[in-house]
Amino acid sequence: MADDNKTPTDTISKIKALRKQELSAEALAQGIFDGNKAMLAKAITLLESTKPAHFNKANAVIEKCLAKPNNSIRLGITGVPGVGKSSFIETLGKSLTEQGNKVAVLAVDPTSSLSKGSILGDKTRMETLAKDPNAFIRPSPSGNSLGGVAQKTRESIILCEAAGYNVILVETVGVGQSEIAVHSMVDFFLLLKLSGAGDELQGIKRGIMEMADAIAINKADGSNLEHAKLAMTEFSRALHLYPPKANGWTPKVMKCSAMEKTGIQEIWEMVQQFVKHNKENGFFEKSRQLQNKNWFLQTVDEYIKQFFHQKETFKKEQTKFLVEIEENKISPFYAAKLLLDKITKEL
Ligand code: GDP
Repeated sequence: MADDNKTPTDTISKIKALRKQELSAEALAQGIFDGNKAMLAKAITLLESTKPAHFNKANAVIEKCLAKPNNSIRLGITGVPGVGKSSFIETLGKSLTEQGNKVAVLAVDPTSSLSKGSILGDKTRMETLAKDPNAFIRPSPSGNSLGGVAQKTRESIILCEAAGYNVILVETVGVGQSEIAVHSMVDFFLLLKLSGAGDELQGIKRGIMEMADAIAINKADGSNLEHAKLAMTEFSRALHLYPPKANGWTPKVMKCSAMEKTGIQEIWEMVQQFVKHNKENGFFEKSRQLQNKNWFLQTVDEYIKQFFHQKETFKKEQTKFLVEIEENKISPFYAAKLLLDKITKEL
C-alpha cells in the first residue's frame, strides 16, 4: 500500500511506536544530560521496570549518570497525611525555582501499589510546580516491598542530579519504616508537624525525633499562630532530651505556613546553613559515603536471600524442616544450620 493511502490512525500509531522506541543507554544518558524531561522520565520508568532485560540497560544509564559531578542538596520531608507536605513542597519548590534552582520531587510510598499512588499520584497536587519548566515531579514507584520502592527512588535521585536538578525533595508519608528509608537517602531530614492542644508529643513515632534535622510546625497562620508558637517551645524542649548529633548540628524547630508562604525561606536558609556546616566538618561527604556503603550491604543481603530462596532444594528442605519443627523433632536453630549446610554443599 502506498504511503498516501495511510489513514491518520496509521500516522498516530507510527508516532506512538516512535515514542515506545527502544533507546540505547547512551542515548538515554545523553538525553538526561541535556536536561530532557521526557528522557529522564523514560529512564526512570526503565529502572522501575521489573523485566530482567531492562535491568542491565538501567544500570548502564545509572553508571553514566553517577560519573557526572553534581552539587545537589537532598532534602527528605515527612509528616502525617494532611500536615501539608504537598502544599509545603509546592511553595518551597516554586520559591526555589524562582531563585534559579532546578527542583526534582520524588516520593517513597510503600502503600502506593495498593492505593494506586496515594502520594503524588493525584494530578491535582502541586499543580503550579508541575507546570514549572524547572521542576520535575515523579510519583512514588510501586512495589511489593519498601526496600524495592526505596531502591528505585534512590536510583532516580542519581538520574535527576545528572539532569541538572540541584535540589531533590523526597517526600514520604511515614508508613511503616519509610522514614528510615528516606532518611538514609537524603542530606537533610525535615519533619512537618501540626500544632495541637498542648499534646504535640503524643503519637509521635519513636525514633523520628532523633532522625529529624529540623521540625517545622506548618499551618502557623490565622488563629493557629499562637498554638504554633507554643508547639515550638514544646518541641525544642523535647529535642534537648536527645543526645547531640555526631555532626555537631543542633536540630532546629521552626514554624511556617505553606498556604501564606511564610517561614519557608527561613527553613531553606536553615537547610543551607546545615549543608555549609556539614561540608565544613566533612560530614556531608562522609554521610553520603556511609549511605552508599549501607545501601550496598543491604542490597547484597537482599540478593543472597533471593539467590537461596529461588533454589528448589531450599524450598523442599525448608518445607521438610518446618514439619519437623512443628512435630518438635528438631530445634529451629539447628534446623536452620542444617538447611544452610545442605544448600552450601550444593553450590
Ligand atoms: P499532605 O497530605 O501532607 O500532602 O497535605 P496537603 O498539602 O494536601 O494539605 C492538607 C490540607 O491542609 C489542605 O487542605 C491544604 O490546603 C491545607 N494546608 C496545607 N498547608 C497549610 C497551611 O500552611 N495553612 C493552612 N491553614 N492550611 C494548609
